[in-house]
Amino acid sequence: MATKYIFVTGGVASSLGKGIICASLGRLLISRGLRVTVQKLDPYINVDPGTMNPYEHGEVYVTDDGAETDLDLGHYERFLGIKTSQQNNVTTGRIYYDVIKKERQGVYLGKTVQVIPHITDEIKSHVLSLGSSENYDVVITEIGGTVGDIESLPYIEAMRQLRYDVGRKNTLSIHLTLVPYLAAAGELKTKPTQHSVKTLSESGLSPDILVCRSEYEIDSSIRRKIAQFCNVEIEDVIASLDAESIYEVPLLMLEEGLDKRVIEKLNLPAKNADLTKWKNFVDKIKYPSHVIEIALVGKYVEHHDAYKSIVEALIHGGTMNDTKVNISWVQSEDLTDENVDEMLGSVTGILVAPGFGDRGIDGKLAAVKYARENDIPFFGICLGMQCAVIEYARNCANMKNAHSTEFDETTEFPVIDYMPDQRDITDKGGTMRLGTYHCELIEDTNSMLAYGEKEIQERHRHRFEVNNELRDELIKNGLKIAGINPERDLVEIIEIKSHPWFVGVQFHPELKSTVGEPHPLFTAFVKASLKLQREKLSNESVAEQNQPV
Ligand code: GLN
Repeated sequence: MATKYIFVTGGVASSLGKGIICASLGRLLISRGLRVTVQKLDPYINVDPGTMNPYEHGEVYVTDDGAETDLDLGHYERFLGIKTSQQNNVTTGRIYYDVIKKERQGVYLGKTVQVIPHITDEIKSHVLSLGSSENYDVVITEIGGTVGDIESLPYIEAMRQLRYDVGRKNTLSIHLTLVPYLAAAGELKTKPTQHSVKTLSESGLSPDILVCRSEYEIDSSIRRKIAQFCNVEIEDVIASLDAESIYEVPLLMLEEGLDKRVIEKLNLPAKNADLTKWKNFVDKIKYPSHVIEIALVGKYVEHHDAYKSIVEALIHGGTMNDTKVNISWVQSEDLTDENVDEMLGSVTGILVAPGFGDRGIDGKLAAVKYARENDIPFFGICLGMQCAVIEYARNCANMKNAHSTEFDETTEFPVIDYMPDQRDITDKGGTMRLGTYHCELIEDTNSMLAYGEKEIQERHRHRFEVNNELRDELIKNGLKIAGINPERDLVEIIEIKSHPWFVGVQFHPELKSTVGEPHPLFTAFVKASLKLQREKLSNESVAEQNQPV
């Protein structure tokens, strides 16, 4: 069967959740036995989002092959249970970079290099390369931005051409739009959708299916109106109402028949969708038996998208414990040794987040110390783990003012440092330790207990490492090394033996947590946190019983 290509564009407004719709459609098609991948084309000039600040862009999602990508790829992996790669996220910057490189190499010798055909050809080649790998029956391509944006035009044009290159019957155009409710008029308005479809159609890419985001039920008269004005059948007007959890969206799309219409139109051989497991997962989110509160200590806490995968991994780990995890967002800059008890006293788990730069470092160190001294389950991720090592060195291993050379180049105890082979790197883009590396776990640790296996693979995004020259001193003073990268003898996981659950990881476990396979460390962290909550509650009730009447 020829690979089928689905293009998903967005109209009227940004932030309508195109990524979630693509991931949900992908999930439904996979549940029907098809092999599916999802790709995102981003119309900005950065070669990748790796150098963008999280306020601009949210989290940078890292793939197994070390690509720094858009956070929507995280949704694709979490929903579909697939692995994405560099090929699944392409930006305008990357397209131009490659075309200009080829121009310099003389690939187009004699020709004027132009947006059409050279840029559009390059865009098409990125879409087709996923299809031609023969690994997929369906490639879903999400076009970033909003229809009508100048920067989206080459992508829309490339998709228009592709429809003819691979045959119209092998392609489908889905447009995600907004149907707003005007309180003053007391009704849903279809005009923005009509205009958006008109703009898209003027570029020659008329939609086959419309997914309409709305806060309210879209009744049949409105569906009919949209169908009539936008050249689609009424069954092709799919309502996407606001959901409590993003994980409900595949179920809502199933009810609306999005997958059914896609299958009919593309003539795909598909069985009935089995979403029993998915439904169980959503039920666990909606009807948990327990609720816990975990503090997420970081410097971007006003912008939750900066920690997207961590938030989702906590949800996944929560469902494994039948528990809802409420996150208490703690700005590390506000945290001090003096107020830490007030700020973190009520939580039963502390997660210190990844990050770059020294803003808020002292607050992170205060959070680590508080968790260590009060036996509160602690999870340090990347910079969070590095902070745990710094705090341990200073307060338990007699290394006064120990630090990372990222923050203090002249520290007497550089417990976190560049490895010798990294010292000469000056470029910022794509030069970190990126992507999947192998880690060997040490017996008799909480990490080994959580994973239940000795050899693991985890994804990385950092420059600094635990300094091997000071490692023995830390171990001598009670720090436990729980995981090692044997190829380069790098510390991957640290623990504290005398603590109930204190785990710091140099890698990013959150990137590999999916609905189908919640990450074992997040599951274990939530479990430890739930245990502490139970202990606290039973101590409180004993204290109450002992009160004189
Ligand atoms: N800034 C640290 C480093 O580069 C940690 C990075 C991170 O938390 N992702 O090593």
